[in-house]
Amino acid sequence: MIEKNMDNTINSQNHIFCSFCKKKENEVKKIISGPSGHICNQCVLLCYDVLNKDDSNNNKSIISLPTPHTIKKYLNKFIIGQKKAKKIISVAVYNHYKKLNFSLTENTIQIEKSNILLIGPTGTGKTLIAKTLAKYLQVPFSISDATTLTEAGYVGEDVENILRRLIENSNYDIKTAEKGIVYIDEIDKITKKTANISITRDVSGEGVQQALLKILEGTIASVPINGGRKHPQQETWKIDTSKILFICGGSFFGLKKIISNRIRHISNIGFNKSNQKKFFIKNNKKNQKKIIQTKDLMKYGLIPEFIGRLPIIVTLDELTQKDLIKILKKPKNALIKQYKKLFSFEKIKLKFDDSAIIEIAKQAIEKKTGARGLRSILESSLLHIMYKAPTLKNIKSICIDASVIQGNNSPKLFFLEKKSDINQ
Ligand code: ADP
Repeated sequence: MIEKNMDNTINSQNHIFCSFCKKKENEVKKIISGPSGHICNQCVLLCYDVLNKDDSNNNKSIISLPTPHTIKKYLNKFIIGQKKAKKIISVAVYNHYKKLNFSLTENTIQIEKSNILLIGPTGTGKTLIAKTLAKYLQVPFSISDATTLTEAGYVGEDVENILRRLIENSNYDIKTAEKGIVYIDEIDKITKKTANISITRDVSGEGVQQALLKILEGTIASVPINGGRKHPQQETWKIDTSKILFICGGSFFGLKKIISNRIRHISNIGFNKSNQKKFFIKNNKKNQKKIIQTKDLMKYGLIPEFIGRLPIIVTLDELTQKDLIKILKKPKNALIKQYKKLFSFEKIKLKFDDSAIIEIAKQAIEKKTGARGLRSILESSLLHIMYKAPTLKNIKSICIDASVIQGNNSPKLFFLEKKSDINQ
């Protein structure tokens, strides 16, 4: 350590003091001297912190961001069909995080948030897409049900509780939570026209939409640490929602009718007969869903401001039998693979005949619950054998065909030596 006595850093009692904080030599651990001043150990640490912070702001991204192509490729591993939806979402998510990474250094043009509205029948992959995205991007994720929310003053949950779930899933690290993804399910149930069962609940649903506006757009929200309703004495977390990506999903049952009414209206007033025909040929089921307009959603009961906070509208297709077969077999964690794995722990090979897979898909379509129904069909078909198998000795393999799924037959059991029936 070099110490120099210079007039501007030595006081009248001949004490050296830090040129930055003016503390005297005896008030700090160490003072380092340069040609024209001194610095104490505390100020050195402070400068180190400042330099580090600057560095992280300039160079570190919010998240390391794959391209839309790579995001979609990853989604393909888990989500069957929904090609167009996966493409739109990959681009939206890419733009969202690109904007966040970029805005750390550049603050000139404000790019609006690209929150997403997913519209599609139940069990078509809305939640799965949101969940898979969060997993891939390694950002915190939470799911909330819009039907549990009510506007302030009514019995139910404050909208801020959506954020509490995200904070919990981020291990209470607010900064991490601020770059997460929130999925709000059943968003179509908070429309203006929603009939309410309970008289203590928000009567319109519109109040919940209003309450969500700020959060979706970006605000510093106060989230009650202990949950429940907000009150002045309550301890809260402050969380900036401007970087959080909100994905809202709903089946919007009845929206198709609103759209086809609008189309019929247009065609009645504006098209001659030959044009009308052409129009209706184009207006098949698939195309109809693709032309959702803001006014359709307004008619459905969403307020314009709310729709405005969800600029990316994505429709998901109903899953076909072919899709459901793929869902059963193809994804990384496909149901058939899961059940095979379960039986393999007992050294039993579980085999599914093609007829069984087709039958499961057929039954799921009849249930009208999309891919959601697949598990329950499998679970009930395999219940008896799952109950029996651990107590049966020497089973080599079990074969499931369509008749087992239909409940007409028991699975065929193959023992290490001979073939048998489960009831034997
Ligand atoms: P929803 O559209 O109602 O949100 P989910 O995403 O929760 O439906 O789907 C329920 C389950 O069905 C998922 O966990 C997944 O196993 C399966 N599933 C639904 N859609 C798909 C899909 N397109 N590809 C693969 N699996 C799917």
